[in-house]
Amino acid sequence: VNQDRIINFCIIAHVDHGKSTLADRLLEYTDTIEERDMEEQLLDTMELERERGITIKAQAVRMNYEADDGQNYILNLIDTPGHVDFNYEVSRSLEACEGALLVIDAAQGVEAQTLANIYLALEADLEIIPVINKIDLDSARPDLVKEELIDIGIDPDEAILTSAKEGVGIGEVLDAVVERVSSPAGDIDRPLKALIFDSVYDPYQGVIAYYRVVEGSIEPGMEIEMMATEKTFEVEEVGIFTPNMESVDRLVAGEVGYVIAGIKDVKHSRVGDTITEANNPTDEPLPGYQKAKPMVYCGLYPVEGADYDLLRDALEKLQLNDAALTFEPETSEALGFGYRGGFLGLLHMEIIQERLEREYDLDLITTAPSVVYKVHKEDGEVLEIENPAKMPEPQEIDFIEEPFVEATIMLPDDYVGDGMELAQDRRGEFEDMQYLDETRVKLVYELPLSEIILDFFDQLKSATRGYATLDYEFVGYREADLVKLNILVNKDPIDALSCIVHEDNAYEIGQSLTRKLKEFIPEQMFEVPVQAAIGNNVIARQTIRAKRKNVLQKCYGGDVSRKRKLLEKQKEGKKRMKQVGSVEIPQEAFMAILSID
Ligand code: GDP
Ligand code: MG
Repeated sequence: VNQDRIINFCIIAHVDHGKSTLADRLLEYTDTIEERDMEEQLLDTMELERERGITIKAQAVRMNYEADDGQNYILNLIDTPGHVDFNYEVSRSLEACEGALLVIDAAQGVEAQTLANIYLALEADLEIIPVINKIDLDSARPDLVKEELIDIGIDPDEAILTSAKEGVGIGEVLDAVVERVSSPAGDIDRPLKALIFDSVYDPYQGVIAYYRVVEGSIEPGMEIEMMATEKTFEVEEVGIFTPNMESVDRLVAGEVGYVIAGIKDVKHSRVGDTITEANNPTDEPLPGYQKAKPMVYCGLYPVEGADYDLLRDALEKLQLNDAALTFEPETSEALGFGYRGGFLGLLHMEIIQERLEREYDLDLITTAPSVVYKVHKEDGEVLEIENPAKMPEPQEIDFIEEPFVEATIMLPDDYVGDGMELAQDRRGEFEDMQYLDETRVKLVYELPLSEIILDFFDQLKSATRGYATLDYEFVGYREADLVKLNILVNKDPIDALSCIVHEDNAYEIGQSLTRKLKEFIPEQMFEVPVQAAIGNNVIARQTIRAKRKNVLQKCYGGDVSRKRKLLEKQKEGKKRMKQVGSVEIPQEAFMAILSID
């Protein structure tokens, strides 16, 4: 393999600007995929699979391309996930590339996510090739877009005009990749050094790690070591994606591919880790390795107690493919035996919940997400509390710390006021505001992570008509005046409903939470009070009326099928109910904190 003929690149874009469509055209143009085999938006289906956590067919595709200079090139297109929960994975994928196609919609122009992507690409030292796409549209304004490019520091003369839809400009894009993106430079004769940017679990072959060789080479029979976990494995197979997996004799510095090495657990093949040769190791691992760390926790309880073992099996299986997922057994007075799951963020949490229900056919009650609090007790002990129910009594607590993030919000200047108001509402501390160009503003706030996970992003989107983007990173723990809000249903405290809130908001949250619970908990045969309390001090109360009518009475005339339907529907609804004491509580109630206004 001639390294000068290898080029590794990725495509970055604001959503809907045409990343997937352009990738499809590149694969067709290079005959990597025959047009007739082309499923629409190949890259998109992969993206969805990954976002939904399902096994990925290929995340890096190798294309062969004969360029203008008459030479044959190997072009590796590396795909990146597009959600803030997976920002670290994105950063590792970009690290495996030398260049990026920056796709911009010719009618929409530069959007906030376009900018966020540019920052990531610059951080990874990538050559950026601007691609102004959708020039076939009547509303296309490529000249205006070029002006916007100047504002964000990109030379508009470098832009390539395309219509991915109609296949215009595709050859120019490939030629630009060849001309402008440098080839990898790593020394083939040095000890192996390879960057893992993803790994998946296959039930037959074990873990398949995706990596970029930075120095040296890798081949079957070699004893490799994962430097962060210090585990060693013998290489069984190395290969490339064409886009199907195709084994090769060896991969050398600059190349991108996969390795199968009898790895049983994705925990031993972590994104960002460095692969080296066990007997001839490289001096130093690649910089920037971070172990995935759960930021958000929630309780996962089977509706049917008998499903507890199934739930554990399912979580174990999912964990094989997901080094970031954690879980531990947990018991709740209200919900019985279950698990506390730990996740990278809310999207990650939703994906796992959805998979447990869809793929493993489990009916679950999930509790509201929580962050990890550091509780300093009067006796000097420091507890890490990830379940509000486990919070010690107020008199035992000296002070509490909560995780803070630095949040970067990008939005059009018309919405700056709305963005700031929301951030302040959520206990945000203003850090910085900058005009990125004439109309676009970057706001930086420090916010409690707990406020972010309570649908901050959705609120931000609706306050800005969808224009704002959000990115955040953990910055440390801060002391805060936090209290545990106990929720009592029919005078019984329900541990799984308790939550931790800021003292200043406790009253308001207690009010809205009890109102929501009244909405969600169906009428019972008797009157049910719903109360919010701090310690024993009740601060809010609502009453659910006693049930009066039998539901079947609504079906007057006795239309059998309708009656049956109604009963079935009721049964369906019941599945996601949990009998707690004398009251039936539905799933929504446990998530009520997420829907209060
Ligand atoms: P992504 O979110 O960046 O991956 O964008 P997609 O590739 O999914 O494209 C979003 C939408 O724009 C789809 O409906 C595409 O068919 C459409 N699209 C993509 N490229 C073009 C183009 O060059 N011209 C037109 N008119 N539509 C396009
Ligand atoms: Mg897409």
